[in-house]
Amino acid sequence: MEYEAVIGLEVHVQLNTSTKAFCSCRAEFGMEPNTNVCPVCLGLPGALPVLNRDVLSCAVKVGLALGCSIQKRTKFDRKNYFYPDLPKGYQISQFDMPAALGGEVRIDTPGGDKAIRVKRVHMEEDAGKLMHEDDGSLVDLNRAGVPLLEIVTEPDINSPEEAYAYLTKLKSIVKYLGVSDCDMEKGSLRCDANISLRPKGESRLGTKAELKNMNSFKAVKDALSCEISRQTEILKEGGSVAQETRLWDARQSMTFSMRSKEEAHDYRYFPDPDLTIFLIGDNEIELARAAIPELPQQKAERFIGEFGVSSYEAGILTAEKSDADFAEECFRVFDAADKKPVVNFLIGPLLAEANSRGCGLRGLGITPPGLIELVLLVQKNIISNLVSKSVLKEMIDGKTTAEEIVKTRNLAQISDTSALDGIITRVLAENDKSVQDFRAGKSNAVMFLVGQVMRMSCGKANPKVVKELLERRLSDA
Ligand code: ADP
Ligand code: ZN
Ligand code: MG
Repeated sequence: MEYEAVIGLEVHVQLNTSTKAFCSCRAEFGMEPNTNVCPVCLGLPGALPVLNRDVLSCAVKVGLALGCSIQKRTKFDRKNYFYPDLPKGYQISQFDMPAALGGEVRIDTPGGDKAIRVKRVHMEEDAGKLMHEDDGSLVDLNRAGVPLLEIVTEPDINSPEEAYAYLTKLKSIVKYLGVSDCDMEKGSLRCDANISLRPKGESRLGTKAELKNMNSFKAVKDALSCEISRQTEILKEGGSVAQETRLWDARQSMTFSMRSKEEAHDYRYFPDPDLTIFLIGDNEIELARAAIPELPQQKAERFIGEFGVSSYEAGILTAEKSDADFAEECFRVFDAADKKPVVNFLIGPLLAEANSRGCGLRGLGITPPGLIELVLLVQKNIISNLVSKSVLKEMIDGKTTAEEIVKTRNLAQISDTSALDGIITRVLAENDKSVQDFRAGKSNAVMFLVGQVMRMSCGKANPKVVKELLERRLSDA
């Protein structure tokens, strides 16, 4: 029997508000343990929480950006459980009246565009952090009370690749909104994955396992693939999948059962009597809407229409807002209607340099006019494509301009036929085999000879001119 994977993701995004969700402590951590704390986030008896309105406006922004309907009335509930990093014995979360309901995230799949429905977006507080030492465990409560948004999908995802695409797109959108840096390594984005299998064509859902402890998008993908194999094997043998929480172990590339999955009623959710129902007014929604920048999807569509880039290229260029802004400035500086040379440079050598240095396009320290100067040197055949890549590296390291580097290092392309004639004569003399091949009808042999001329000229010969000269010389004799 063939099985289909059914996946739903629960993503926690840590908000970058200046203060915590329900007290005025700074929402910063990683500093001296237990310094950013007060009676409220320490959970001391009698301390009263007060909602940070910025948290609500972040929730509204994210809800709007995902196409959700913002709930005019929203409520906080206590989610009760015991853990040493949770001194109150409950987490303030939202149960049946979340901030936003019903949106979607569009992803690219091999089968085309697909909408992953977003079930809900709700606000909650983070817990503290346990640090395990040799002689015991320590609790740091600086993170307790830091605001989070939980974004939950419907079970619309059908493969590990789709899960990866969803996470990438969601992260891109949330980063555009500027409400979180979404850095999974720092824990400001966390993802739990729910997965079940069902026979292809069946519409009922199978029993799911919940996967935790993945610390990169790649780990989410790997954990899901691994879980698909595990569940397939169980079902094929006629067994049934247990409803449980499993931990991903990246070192062993395996999931391990942690506990049987708790149900909502295990948490004894009830409305937090210290916090009233919050009303979200139209004016607050409109203010949030006005603060939403052009989002990646719209920007990609505009790049396609305005600059003639392909949808694949637009996707790459708009994933990060700062890259998209940089690309747009480059397009504006480059006068010609056909932006292809610029696009190729941006998603080719420039992005490669940025990736290898772990920064964005702008982080390379090259201005859009500076980059276009380099693109134009290639366009005007003053330097070859090959040479442009080494000029680019020097621009990044040396902080000088492309024209200056080409001048001082004498990199201009040799298109002057008399300067090339000598090299060509030598190459023809030293590569008799290729010359014979060419004359025997193997027209491809000329490319090898072009390569030899390029090598001998240290990449400075103009390959087009070289090819023409070679072909003329070869057919002359
Ligand atoms: P729980 O109460 O166990 O947290 P929810 O209904 O809140 O379950 O759903 C949590 C996540 O699990 C959602 O993203 C949802 O889409 C997904 N999900 C629910 N049922 C299944 C299933 N049978 N298989 C895969 N994912 C599921
Ligand atoms: Zn506090
Ligand atoms: Mg749930």
